[in-house]
Amino acid sequence: MKQRPSFPARIDTGQSQAKPQTLLTATRVVAPASPKQLKPTGLSSPSGMGLDSSAVRARMVQKLTAQGISDPVVLEAMGHVERHRFVDSALVNQAYEDTSLPIGLGQTISKPNVVARMIALLREAPGRQGSPAMGRVLEIGTGCGYQAAVLSCVAREVYSIERLRGLHDKARENLRPLRLSNVHLIFGDGMLGYAQGAPYNAIISAAGGENVPQAWIDQLAIGGRLVAPTHTQSGQQALVVIDKTPQGLQQSLLEAVNFVPLKSGIA
Ligand code: SAH
Repeated sequence: MKQRPSFPARIDTGQSQAKPQTLLTATRVVAPASPKQLKPTGLSSPSGMGLDSSAVRARMVQKLTAQGISDPVVLEAMGHVERHRFVDSALVNQAYEDTSLPIGLGQTISKPNVVARMIALLREAPGRQGSPAMGRVLEIGTGCGYQAAVLSCVAREVYSIERLRGLHDKARENLRPLRLSNVHLIFGDGMLGYAQGAPYNAIISAAGGENVPQAWIDQLAIGGRLVAPTHTQSGQQALVVIDKTPQGLQQSLLEAVNFVPLKSGIA
């Protein structure tokens, strides 16, 4: 039985394991694995919100349903995570609108609809064969930590990597009060994936590159699914879904999307 580290804790610095390809620091942010087990944070709405945030979230979930998101597990997770905690106080009143919002350093928190859609796609992976919770998930682009919090409700372990130190730190601050023990925040270049947590049952990218990096494919488990924005031949961005089957890779290109660029290196 692993001893629970005091918080905040540093883990997986690579000293006792295979050497990482770049300087990576991981932070364990403590938490339960399913929405059912999640305790209410007991914190009131922040000043400026001026309304009952659970009612506003319920309306957001209704809207997601009307937009075609039907997976009850995803809807429950979306209804649970307080998105207003992840945006600047000046933007709190827009937190439950279906819009991306600035989170600093030129980056944005993804629209609720896109977060829900991508997680629902991960859960539909044929390789999962109806298992209730996803196993290990790698998220590229932690940003403010919102999607990592949603993923923590539907997966056993979430590894989320961010290349911008300022956002990695911000996500840690945002997630700390939620005490999500299954979320591991890593500062590093997500184009290299995160080999220490591999193989992953699911990989999700919140940033779009020219191609899907080979490291992500290598770190995906057989039966696992990857969902990422990527550039198409027409120069647009679209969601790509890659399933790693025992017979090989199966790829499908879905709807057009608009994500911030995937960049290499750390800053
Ligand atoms: N999931 C985030 C969305 C953040 S936007 C949220 O819920 O807020 C996408 C993020 O991807 C940005 O913070 C950007 O810095 C990050 N990013 C871009 N390229 C990256 C890379 N190679 N490795 C890790 N993060 C990257």
